[in-house]
Amino acid sequence: MHQPTTEARPSIYYNYQVFKPWLPSAHAAQERKQVVIAGSGPAGMVAALELARLGVPSVVLTSELQVSQGSRAIVFTRRSMEILQQVGVADRMTENGLPWRFGNSYYGGQRVFRMEAPHDADDRFFPMINIQQQYMEEYLLDACQANPLIDLRWGNKVVKVDQAPGVARVTVDTPEGPYTLETDWLVAADGGRSEIRTAMNLQMEGSSYEGFFVIADIRVDLPLPTERLAYFDPEWNPGNTILMHREPHGIWRVDYQLPPGETPEEALKPASLKARIDAQLAMIGHAGVPWEMDWNSVYSARTLTLPDYVQGRVIFTGDAAHLLPIFGVRGANTAFQDAQSLAWHLAFVVRGLAGEKLLANHSAERVGAAREIIDEAGKSTRFMAPPSPGFRLLRDAVLSLSLTEEFVRPLYHWRTSRPHEYTDSMLNSQGDDNALFRSGPAHGAPPQNIRLAPNDFLLDHLGGGFDLLYFTDAAALPEPMQQVLAATRAKGVPIKVIAVGAAQPVAGADLTLADADGHFRKRYGVQASGAAYLLRPDQHICARWLTLDATRLQAALNIALPQ
Ligand SMILES: Cc1cc2nc3c(=O)[nH]c(=O)nc-3n(C[C@H](O)[C@H](O)[C@H](O)COP(=O)(O)OP(=O)(O)OC[C@H]3O[C@@H](n4cnc5c(N)ncnc54)[C@H](O)[C@@H]3O)c2cc1C
Repeated sequence: MHQPTTEARPSIYYNYQVFKPWLPSAHAAQERKQVVIAGSGPAGMVAALELARLGVPSVVLTSELQVSQGSRAIVFTRRSMEILQQVGVADRMTENGLPWRFGNSYYGGQRVFRMEAPHDADDRFFPMINIQQQYMEEYLLDACQANPLIDLRWGNKVVKVDQAPGVARVTVDTPEGPYTLETDWLVAADGGRSEIRTAMNLQMEGSSYEGFFVIADIRVDLPLPTERLAYFDPEWNPGNTILMHREPHGIWRVDYQLPPGETPEEALKPASLKARIDAQLAMIGHAGVPWEMDWNSVYSARTLTLPDYVQGRVIFTGDAAHLLPIFGVRGANTAFQDAQSLAWHLAFVVRGLAGEKLLANHSAERVGAAREIIDEAGKSTRFMAPPSPGFRLLRDAVLSLSLTEEFVRPLYHWRTSRPHEYTDSMLNSQGDDNALFRSGPAHGAPPQNIRLAPNDFLLDHLGGGFDLLYFTDAAALPEPMQQVLAATRAKGVPIKVIAVGAAQPVAGADLTLADADGHFRKRYGVQASGAAYLLRPDQHICARWLTLDATRLQAALNIALPQ
């Protein structure tokens, strides 16, 4: 019988709420479900919220009675905030998080590189915002609990999955014993140690890096701005790397690499943690300042992915699908993109608006994203923790040259998480004008946000299905195009039309944005009336035209929704 802990997790700044378990005896016999999600981490909850937005109900099963232990992910990217905006929690993240855009790299007691993340007036969100994962999970949880399409079941652990054609039978253990749920689709969002993945005997591909990193969250009062601090080859930890980040509530994350041969058990002994944190504070000029430990853990970098996320009726997502190094803020930020992608692909299949080919596309796109991250994060990992004498020689050469030579300094700048561009997606239109545009977001890219007025941005108006941005000065959408849109909606496909450029509302459009100064058209590379962009429900561009007509629109929709 599954007995999750009923004791609140310890923390010096966060009050863990312990929820009551969902017990089968208190509920009617369970009917077959369309979607069951195992796991209530970022991937599971964003998937449930996105599915609900597209009208698909789900049951979320989660083994614990409270949100996750320790701060875990602390840095969230602009794209994550854009995704979180879609599921209704971006405002709470902004109210409570610490935005930032500068990073500093130090070597030999000298700042050798200052990273400045791009940010302009068209961006609603900062490039990065720091907030502890528990808060982010709490906000998602509140949104799930307020949504009648989401049935979130605490203390429900998936212990077995059997598959038959068209159905998954899920055995769920609870504090009063097991019950069975039948579902059309099971989403495995059960985290890095996914028991579903292990039980199905699925092998991940890739590699694991040697070496451990300690992450420690301490409460300390440091008079420093919210900027990322990276120390290479510091005097108290020669050859290794240390990162520091400010978090809300007076907490700082100290992240340091261990010398070769040191075990995690030794590293997490209080005396070892104390000596190292004291040394770090002394090195940055704050020796003797009082601090208090909140949470610590050890991790090692791995770059592993399943080669296919769809396994019969079971779809893997987030850490259950891949294990990626957190350098470059990858873990939860990647999970949001996975979940957003999964939700719309699955919702359209569940609602009969596309064939199961769409799920194959989801897997191909997200496995591609994981492999891109593996490639990029592997480079950062090798710079932070060189895996061989050759890599160390190269890294040390960059470090020592950077003291005097400007040109090597940008080599410190590792690539942080960014949305994968589905450049080769099978959903991208074949006969459109993508190649003829000179600027603007191309095939597979996420949209460029546009500031429309103070506190009013393009992305505030997108979402809930396909979006067509139609650039026009005319009074109405052409009649044949309106017919295609009506027929598409009649099939149940949600599509919203935003007319851009006309001074008066355009008949046939759901919304008209005037664009008096032409700024919107310029950012989208549009030079004349009649151009258009088609965005998928995850907002990535799947077609764009210098001139759109009804036939071209119909062709693009047919490609984006394969039967
Ligand atoms: C120690 C540590 C430090 C980290 N630091 C960072 C960081 O600094 N930056 C960063 O970006 N990322 C970090 N991460 C990674 C980040 O936390 C994860 O990438 C992110 O949480 C992945 O989300 P997920 O929803 O896929 O999985 P998880 O968040 O792991 O969620 C899994 C969920 O499944 C549930 N579950 C597990 N088994 C079952 C089961 N059998 N049945 C039902 N439910 C089940 C769990 O209770 C949980 O709700 C860290 C992770 C760890 C472990």
